[in-house]
Amino acid sequence: MPGSPLRVLIVGAGIAGLTVARALRLAGFRPEIAEKLPASVVAGAGIYLPGNAARAFRELGLESPIRPLGQVIGRQRFLDAEGHQLCEVDLTQLWAGVGECRALPRAELHRVLLTGAGGEVRHDTEVTALDLTAEAVAVTFGDGRQAEYDLVIGADGRRSTVRALAALGGAARPAGQVVYRSVVTDGPEVADWTSLLGQRAGFIVMPMGAGRLYCYADEAATAPPADPLARLRELFGSYGGPVPEVLAAVRTVQVAVTDEVELGRWSRGRVVLVGDAAHATAPTLSQGAAMAVEDAVVLADSLRQRADVPAALAAYESRRRPRTRWVLDRTRDRDRTRDVPPALRDPLLRGRGGRIFREHYRLLVDPA
Ligand SMILES: Cc1cc2nc3c(=O)[nH]c(=O)nc-3n(C[C@H](O)[C@H](O)[C@H](O)COP(=O)(O)OP(=O)(O)OC[C@H]3O[C@@H](n4cnc5c(N)ncnc54)[C@H](O)[C@@H]3O)c2cc1C
Repeated sequence: MPGSPLRVLIVGAGIAGLTVARALRLAGFRPEIAEKLPASVVAGAGIYLPGNAARAFRELGLESPIRPLGQVIGRQRFLDAEGHQLCEVDLTQLWAGVGECRALPRAELHRVLLTGAGGEVRHDTEVTALDLTAEAVAVTFGDGRQAEYDLVIGADGRRSTVRALAALGGAARPAGQVVYRSVVTDGPEVADWTSLLGQRAGFIVMPMGAGRLYCYADEAATAPPADPLARLRELFGSYGGPVPEVLAAVRTVQVAVTDEVELGRWSRGRVVLVGDAAHATAPTLSQGAAMAVEDAVVLADSLRQRADVPAALAAYESRRRPRTRWVLDRTRDRDRTRDVPPALRDPLLRGRGGRIFREHYRLLVDPA
């Protein structure tokens, strides 16, 4: 649909919003992007992207600017809390023909996506009200300004305002973990994505290139502690492997709680949700970015193929549901194993762990 006159507003300039903007521009649309945060807010910590994220970025022509960033990850190693190996997954083999797995700083990914979105992001611009009719959506912004669009795309994250304003769902449900993240520069040498599994807690560390390590630790809990760095050291102080040296190198820590979003529908009239706004999960499988970018590719494809907007939105949702459902179900499967005592879990993982963890990605190896 080259030079399409469709008036499109994307709400949110995270991974979902910026990749939808890119995909729509490639399909001939000219979307506007509204982001409530100021441009000065920079995404922190790191991100791990499995092979299907690389494939989706490739479909948007973003593979070459991302390739120099961070570090390719070839193997996942799972250890017990003392640091003894339980099992491993050969990622090069698992994602062969799909794409490289990569760990990189979030801020660097964000810069590539901002450039790739190709248009101005209107920062400091919050959507506060929507008025839906069959033909259009009237949008009210935080400064009182109003404008009308043919399509509004809610890419505003797990605590989506668009979702609530379009009566597509309420608050996200807590998924039950508190997560601690840090980037360290003077830690030990770690070659692989390495996870130490404790009881109701786990510690992951992976290289991001240039001597940097990305550390992601979690515990089963619902509220962040008063002193996250002290809690991180308390939780993992007795762990083995690389953990003591990593902990000694941690200077600052970001803390977050995890959420799930599970909806009966993703669109109403001319409003549709993408990314975490539609289907957030706990980040256990590291599929949030991949699912968001796949959404972007499929939504643009559906809109290119159909002039009728609600029909295109329905086609997008029916293509995307099976994969996002798979991610939610496998995430819950994996998270349930947190409650299994290590004395029962570890012998199972020593025997079959590699196969079990590979299986979690089976459907995702196929194209979206
Ligand atoms: C602790 C943690 C670790 C994770 N690690 C990984 C990982 O390693 N790999 C991976 O693939 N995924 C990971 N994820 C998931 C991943 O971060 C998300 O799935 C992904 O970023 C998709 O984001 P999004 O663009 O849908 O939403 P967001 O990143 O939340 O972006 C939404 C944007 O919308 C803006 N916004 C909100 N409301 C409004 C409004 N009313 N008006 C205008 N703008 C608005 C927000 O400011 C924000 O910029 C992790 C998640 C968490 C919580």
